[in-house]
Amino acid sequence: MSSNFVRAALIAAAAGAALSVAACAGRGPADVDGARIAAADREPGNWMSHGRPYDEQRFSPLDKINADNVKDLGLAWYADLDTSRGQEATPIVVDGTLYVSTAWSMVKAYDAATGKPLWAYDPQVSRDVAVKACCDAVNRGVAVWKGKVYVGVLDGRLVALDAATGREAWSVVTVDQSQPYTITGAPRVVKGKVIIGNGGAEFGVRGYVTAYDAATGKQVWRFYTVPGDPAQGFESKAMEMAAQTWTGEWWKLGGGGTVWDSIVYDPALDLLYIGVGNGAPWNQFYRSPGGGDNLFLSSIVALRPDTGEYVWHFQETPGETWDFTATQQIILADLNIDGKQRKVAMQAPKNGFFYVIDRETGKFVSAKPYAPVNWATGVDAATGRPIEVPEARFYKTGKLFMSTPGAAGAHSWQPMAFNPKTGLVYIPEQELTFPYVHAADWKPAPRGFNNALDGVPTVLPADPKIRRMALDGEKGNLIAYDPVAQKEVWRVPHLGPWNGGVLTTAGNLVLQGSAAGSFNAYRADNGAPLWSAEAQTAVMGGPMSYTVNGEQYIAVMAGWGGVFPMPPGVLALKTGNEYNRSRLLVYKLGGRTQLPPAVLPEPRELDPPPATAKPAVVEQGKALYTRYCAACHGDAAVSGHLVADLRYSGYLASEEWFEVVLDGKLGSLGMAAFAVAINRDEAAAIRDYVIQRAHEDKALPYMVAPPETAAAAR
Ligand code: CA
Repeated sequence: MSSNFVRAALIAAAAGAALSVAACAGRGPADVDGARIAAADREPGNWMSHGRPYDEQRFSPLDKINADNVKDLGLAWYADLDTSRGQEATPIVVDGTLYVSTAWSMVKAYDAATGKPLWAYDPQVSRDVAVKACCDAVNRGVAVWKGKVYVGVLDGRLVALDAATGREAWSVVTVDQSQPYTITGAPRVVKGKVIIGNGGAEFGVRGYVTAYDAATGKQVWRFYTVPGDPAQGFESKAMEMAAQTWTGEWWKLGGGGTVWDSIVYDPALDLLYIGVGNGAPWNQFYRSPGGGDNLFLSSIVALRPDTGEYVWHFQETPGETWDFTATQQIILADLNIDGKQRKVAMQAPKNGFFYVIDRETGKFVSAKPYAPVNWATGVDAATGRPIEVPEARFYKTGKLFMSTPGAAGAHSWQPMAFNPKTGLVYIPEQELTFPYVHAADWKPAPRGFNNALDGVPTVLPADPKIRRMALDGEKGNLIAYDPVAQKEVWRVPHLGPWNGGVLTTAGNLVLQGSAAGSFNAYRADNGAPLWSAEAQTAVMGGPMSYTVNGEQYIAVMAGWGGVFPMPPGVLALKTGNEYNRSRLLVYKLGGRTQLPPAVLPEPRELDPPPATAKPAVVEQGKALYTRYCAACHGDAAVSGHLVADLRYSGYLASEEWFEVVLDGKLGSLGMAAFAVAINRDEAAAIRDYVIQRAHEDKALPYMVAPPETAAAAR
């Protein structure tokens, strides 16, 4: 016996029971590589990448928690988070440590069995960056690779952390920070490269994805999703091809096409699939006045992961003009279709059709509506193109078009899941009608202030009938969908839209949170409700499952937020629990931990100062409010309880209004200084409009959903 071996044995004996599973296997923290992620089914107790294995099916092979015993599920531990914004992340667990990102791109590490905090990282995002974020200060998750944890930061940084300590290993700025780019999506690590996209297509940016060396942060490649100014030369043949499908001077408006969520890798085909977002501005009339498909908007694009080279694309919504992104989860699976095994990519994008695409070639396989769709009558089986109704192109008709789905999509970022045992995809579907109307004489706002949206006003028309139609049309369902037969198999209706992401397991389970503030388990084969826990806030994040020492856990992020409580105004106040209590919830069989009692905010009275402004000033204020304020504070000055509801603001009666609006007095809370965009008279007009709205809502109770109504609806 060599002395080295004896020494090693003695050290091991001294460490005794304290040795973790990881250390026994000779592994440090987050010691993950491509081989481990690709073979994730060999270690189902870990969840090493955003959608578990690279295929992002969000299927856990674990079955200790199953349809027979899930009734005994209880809280094992929870962690309160130090933010009050939306929580959209899926946690990662590797060898007993849980890593998760929160709003404002912070990262936490916990002992996955006990919840003991191990470290926390705060990238110190300047809070006024929120003005560049269409959809809250959210973050959808971290990636891990060879001892590092990677997070995309709201202000456009990509940061690598030491997985043992949470200290920064490297940090790169991935965007031009003078432009309204943001990052909310989870990075993916493929072949030693961290792949990250960005958001900002509501504000007039040009989308792209970039690969960075995981060890050093050095840029390896960048793929743009829309062409730039042809006079500057094209970055690639793919951009030259794409430019043939655009008209006018789109590059001056950014073009859009941001890749803000789905990035998926197939190790067998060595292809990277990205989901591309909407056009900037939304209204194609202004973006590409002569029409055209506008590649690669609203497309799935396949790239070579080593070089970023284009391989194929499939465009779901040619000439996109409704904010119909194709950024939603792309799930890879092998399906038996017409007697043949096909390697497919599946997506339920915003436009309401469920797509099955051959992922080797990008060829269309099938598409059918998974939700009510009125902007198209179907998808042409020969071309894969939607068959639009003429009314849908509102800028051509000049008429209002109430579209279902609308800009929020029949499905948004909340991850869907595929269970290979049931053969079903579980989709967090929603029904939200949106009023599209052409804005005449539109000019872009100063860069970064809602450039894209106001080519299509985002406010509901004042007509109470239309407002009522939008409100009554709101629905949300968990839908089990057969991707081969292209038909719904079962559904569970929710109180309203904006429910949580989905996990499915080998225990015949589907787990999903609700906007109404519960976390629920259903039978995967027939949708029977099996278990529900009160979560005191909307549960939106994608749940995940892991084991430590043989015990199975299910973890999910809770905390109301995202885009829905922001621009939709009163539409957001119907889900049943519109309060943010940001928490990580972790469940196990027999868990006995209790949440502290929830304290509801005090109901408030609308008590605005007298309305003294002339109607023309109020009208001007309404237009300015819509352009600059509605994206966060809500349509018609009704907030979705995530940021301040201005109708109730004490600043309405105070000269401090101008310090807040123009000078950024509340910048530390996320309220940017608007002096670069508007002057004092304009700020005063906005105040007059808000005061008028507060008076109107005192007289029109159905327009308001005060806290007690929301609580009663639960
Ligand atoms: Ca969008």
